[in-house]
Amino acid sequence: MIKDRFGRPITSLRISLTQKCNLECFYCHREGENKENDDEMTSEEIAKIVEIASHFGISKVKLTGGEPLLRKDIFDIISKIRSIKGIVEVSMTTNGTLLAEKAKKLREVGLSRVNVNFPSRKRDVYKAITRRDYVKNVEEGINEAYKVGLNPVKVNMVVLKSLNDEEIWDMINYLADKDLTLQLIELEKLGNVKEEIYNKYFFDLDKIEKKLLNDSFKVEVKNLQNRKIYYLKSGGRIELVRPFHNSEFCMNCTRIRITSDGKIKPCLMKMNNHVDILSSIRTNASDNELHKIFLKAIMLREPFFR
Ligand code: SAM
Repeated sequence: MIKDRFGRPITSLRISLTQKCNLECFYCHREGENKENDDEMTSEEIAKIVEIASHFGISKVKLTGGEPLLRKDIFDIISKIRSIKGIVEVSMTTNGTLLAEKAKKLREVGLSRVNVNFPSRKRDVYKAITRRDYVKNVEEGINEAYKVGLNPVKVNMVVLKSLNDEEIWDMINYLADKDLTLQLIELEKLGNVKEEIYNKYFFDLDKIEKKLLNDSFKVEVKNLQNRKIYYLKSGGRIELVRPFHNSEFCMNCTRIRITSDGKIKPCLMKMNNHVDILSSIRTNASDNELHKIFLKAIMLREPFFR
């Protein structure tokens, strides 16, 4: 398994399939992409990048966007990735609005599990955050994903001060009843989130963490980014994602990214060290050359917060 200059093993690849989205979440970090892009990678090009990554021992792939389920060829993309030697898991983060209709086929072509972005169960709050009226669709999507076995289904809730912070315990209970995991995520200052939005909506999960600790019978620490998972006595599972100004998070980061226009992105937070691999694929570079490009990007990785 390949390690970067800081001794961090790289085990997972996060690929942005598109910048298009059917929601307009005001807090979206846009996966650290700062320009519009219509030139999406084909399923063959995506598979080629995964094949190159797998050469370095990367075995897990997460699909993201924009909204990955807007890609018409999403089933083809997943099945191509699944057929690559060494890839043991393909997961997806989605806003869930199209999940109810697609979950079964996603499972059939080899998707392992999903994260569903669900910042609020309250119709008015969800609308204020996403500018769309899709609470029911997302709930159906979550239920269907669980039913067809895209498990563990994890619900992503970016916590926003005075918008959805009072809903945390309601969400915990709602998901515990369904045997689902909740990821409580601290807001990151990136993409649409400028200083003003960050200062207004950042919610410190410290207070919640104390109560979680008190109410849990077990706490686990995941390898990826040192995330803690709390197992509540009442049945809930809550994972905390606290990336900002968190050196532990960065020191335990095992992920490298691909932007929707085919650049290797060594760090979510950095915009100035992307490495173009798609142009070389399009000019038929050899595997050897593509390996060198990938390795260069790995060696550019450094912890953002130290
Ligand atoms: N459309 C998909 C979705 O909604 O999951 C994939 C793209 S979205 C950028 C991926 C995830 O990033 C979301 O589920 C959300 O939890 C997280 N996210 C978005 N903006 C964020 C921010 N400013 N800070 C922390 N997490 C954020």
